[in-house]
Amino acid sequence: MPVADTAPGLTEPPEDDALPINELFASLQGEGRLAGVPSVFVRTSGCNLRCWFCDSYHTSWEPTGGWRTIDAILEAISDSDADHVVLTGGEPLLHDESVTLLERLADRGYHTTVETNGTIAREAPIDLASISPKLASSTPTPERDPTGDGEWAERHDRERIDRDAIATLCERHEFQLKFVVTGPDDMPEIESLLTDLRADATVPIPNEQVLLMPEGTTRAELEETRGTVAECAMEYGYRYTPRLHVDLWNDAPGT
Ligand code: SF4
Repeated sequence: MPVADTAPGLTEPPEDDALPINELFASLQGEGRLAGVPSVFVRTSGCNLRCWFCDSYHTSWEPTGGWRTIDAILEAISDSDADHVVLTGGEPLLHDESVTLLERLADRGYHTTVETNGTIAREAPIDLASISPKLASSTPTPERDPTGDGEWAERHDRERIDRDAIATLCERHEFQLKFVVTGPDDMPEIESLLTDLRADATVPIPNEQVLLMPEGTTRAELEETRGTVAECAMEYGYRYTPRLHVDLWNDAPGT
């Protein structure tokens, strides 16, 4: 998919082997089964969806950043001692060059996690596919659209779930399914989607690989959601995942 369609704030790439980078930083993985692991985050710009609650607004609603060559990205990663790299976005699998980066990271022995919305599957060496399918509650209806007009609502709702892509990612890689949960009303959709995915995929999708994560990008917002989401995890038998970076650093950039 052309990046220009999803990242209009970015100019054309200067070279073939470059990625639009919103930010690159070292921190602790904040979410999922590797929470707490020192990691380098490579955040690409551009997304094919528009969740109203997007916690990386400047990769989706207002994509910004600069093009960096794969060599320059690898050099920046090597400045950190971390041996885990998290490729995130936006939607990092939009970009052909993400595959090149993942191949070169694998050659160097890094453990790679790809944080994806599950709408695109690519042939790439990925150690952990962290798949976050977007539920109906993510749709930017006119009342929830951060830009105020709701023009993305229909496209977002049409494209937010691709069962074939999710099943392929599960089959190809070690994976976790990480749902952003706004409250108990999301649970029937999660249950229904899991029933379908378990029928589609040729690999098991056990409950311990299903994670519920409270919606909220600040400590105050998480305070509102984390209790009920933890109760949902207990009731349905899934795992709860914190947002450690929010607990530690609130909504500070580069964390
Ligand atoms: S899929 Fe992820 S990056 Fe894209 S809009 Fe939704 S939360 Fe933001």
